[in-house]
Amino acid sequence: RLTLKVHGTVFEVNLDALTNNLNFYRNKIGSDTKIMVMVKAFAYGSGSAEVASLLEYHRVDYLGVAYTDEGVVLRQNGIKLPIMVLNPQPESFAKLIEYNLEPEIYSFKVFEQFLTFIESFEHHTFKIHLKLDTGMHRLGFEAQDIEQLVALLKQNPKIKIASIFSHLVGADESEHNAFSKTQIERFEQMSKQIIDALDGQKPLRHICNSAGIIRFPEAKFDMVRLGIGLYGVEVTGTEQKELQTVGTLKTVISQIKYLKAGETVGYSRKGVLEKDSKIATIAIGYADGFDRGFSKGVGKVLVNGVACPVVGNVCMDMTMVDVSEADCQEGDEVIIFGKDLSIKDLAASIGTISYEILTGVSERVKRVFY
Ligand code: PLP
Repeated sequence: RLTLKVHGTVFEVNLDALTNNLNFYRNKIGSDTKIMVMVKAFAYGSGSAEVASLLEYHRVDYLGVAYTDEGVVLRQNGIKLPIMVLNPQPESFAKLIEYNLEPEIYSFKVFEQFLTFIESFEHHTFKIHLKLDTGMHRLGFEAQDIEQLVALLKQNPKIKIASIFSHLVGADESEHNAFSKTQIERFEQMSKQIIDALDGQKPLRHICNSAGIIRFPEAKFDMVRLGIGLYGVEVTGTEQKELQTVGTLKTVISQIKYLKAGETVGYSRKGVLEKDSKIATIAIGYADGFDRGFSKGVGKVLVNGVACPVVGNVCMDMTMVDVSEADCQEGDEVIIFGKDLSIKDLAASIGTISYEILTGVSERVKRVFY
């Protein structure tokens, strides 16, 4: 473990924990099911090139990104694994092909645009991933599109279907179990209709995300798409014992002030002190991803094991916290979230989800891997 003195805000990424979590999900799905890991949004804030390198070392089967540029960055960092691009913009098709990335095709319009684009490539075949809409109503072909889709596929032998997939809308919430099952049934039928009509091709089928892997093991099909669970955030309330926290966001105390009752702290005088207080200014603000919604006691940070509330408004680069109860001095470490301060609770305190907090850790925050 790296014991560096912290000089500002860092996001520490524990690669052993990440490996532990990968193994946990691998054991769940067994060796017959492939695994795609979602490394979109800078690998959920954890550093896409470093995370992807580790995943390549551990021989996962696929990587998933949202946009072509994210895949290009991985290739430029030497990643050789197959990469699916969820939302390839037609303007990026040239790069997509240059960097050997595989597009999700979700509509006839995108399909036609892709077919037009590849017309000039004489001898190539192109792998695509067909997205089916089974109830999310975000991207994807619907049941009534299948016949036309199959006809189009038959006319275009250059196209190879690497996979057919769909996405569950509420696998993490048991209240949606029945709807998840409906989605799984629809997926089974729709994908079968396509595969039966295309003699010979054996595309991978996949629908489960992290929560789906846990809740619907019968629906693992040929591959699963692992996201948040890899980063150690449990989503079904059952896997927290096995998962290890990957990311720790931490900063440092820049200055401590002893202020009298009645004084105010920070912008707009929002931090009114009701009693004499010890106030620490910490080196993190909303520009680092520490949401302004944590202002005025909503957010709490951990200073030497003591939960300390935010005082006043979060600033762009700094935040003031009440450390009256903590034994601390300038230069001490402050945990924003990590093993001892749950990102889920932090997210819930401002009415959001761990995904948003993780992916919101900004670019200027240095990632440290250990
Ligand atoms: N598959 C798709 C299409 C996604 O958009 C996502 C994440 O948003 C995932 C899989 C991974 O989901 P999770 O992070 O909940 O495992």
